[in-house]
Amino acid sequence: MRATLRDVTLSYDQSTTVLKNFTCTIPSGELVALLGPSGSGKSTILNLLAGLLTPSAGQILFDQTDVTRQDSRHRNIGMVFQDYALYPHLTVHDNIAFPLKMAHVKRAARQQRIAELANLVQLSDQLAKFPRELSGGQQQRVALARALAKHPQLLLLDEPLSSLDTTLREELLTVIHDVQRATGVTTLFVTHNQEDALQIADHIMLLANGRLQQVGTGHDLYVHP
Ligand code: ADP
Ligand code: ADP
Repeated sequence: MRATLRDVTLSYDQSTTVLKNFTCTIPSGELVALLGPSGSGKSTILNLLAGLLTPSAGQILFDQTDVTRQDSRHRNIGMVFQDYALYPHLTVHDNIAFPLKMAHVKRAARQQRIAELANLVQLSDQLAKFPRELSGGQQQRVALARALAKHPQLLLLDEPLSSLDTTLREELLTVIHDVQRATGVTTLFVTHNQEDALQIADHIMLLANGRLQQVGTGHDLYVHP
């Protein structure tokens, strides 16, 4: 699915307009990095796509469908946040099962999906553990599996690596890349880290002060002859 913000304006209050006539597209099946410094508007864009904020002008389109006035419950979106946000009292298995149970997916189908997802994020042997027994990177893989459980139209990753040390960052970045390739889910990866964006993204959108400075492949943006 292609996700588009078209001429979007978003103000938190009368004095702060974060986005003004802002347009961007995340092409279907791509992993796009939204790269920019703190305060540039990355979370605002993510929350607009998630349906957690409504623009004061402009439209949000999922393919041809105008979803501007649909709230988050009516958009099939997977999200992974900076801090794992797993249910601490549930096992890995039950964390991944949770959205499927909420959607009343039947037990057999649920078990099959959980097995697929665990395999995808390479945690098949950790299903009985609790989040506190896992590394930060493993916890983020659980969060990723849970976010993908219902075959979301759009996957939103909000600085998913920033609580991890270097080795685990590298490992999780690889898993995210492989999972995105395997599922083909349209993905927006929000980061302030240029290296991460260059390593993982099909396209990079470079944001500053609520405006796109550049959009291109890593090669377009950073490799000069
Ligand atoms: P980023 O994710 O790139 O750090 P944000 O989208 O969080 O940027 O913030 C963009 C701008 O909007 C910043 O100037 C920030 O201070 C402001 N902002 C974000 N959230 C709110 C809010 N709830 N109320 C008022 N201003 C906000
Ligand atoms: P429910 O009947 O409550 O929906 P399930 O039948 O899916 O739950 O599973 C029963 C319990 O067994 C769950 O609480 C889950 O923690 C555990 N469980 C199921 N499959 C696995 C697995 N592959 N690895 C570890 N624990 C599992």
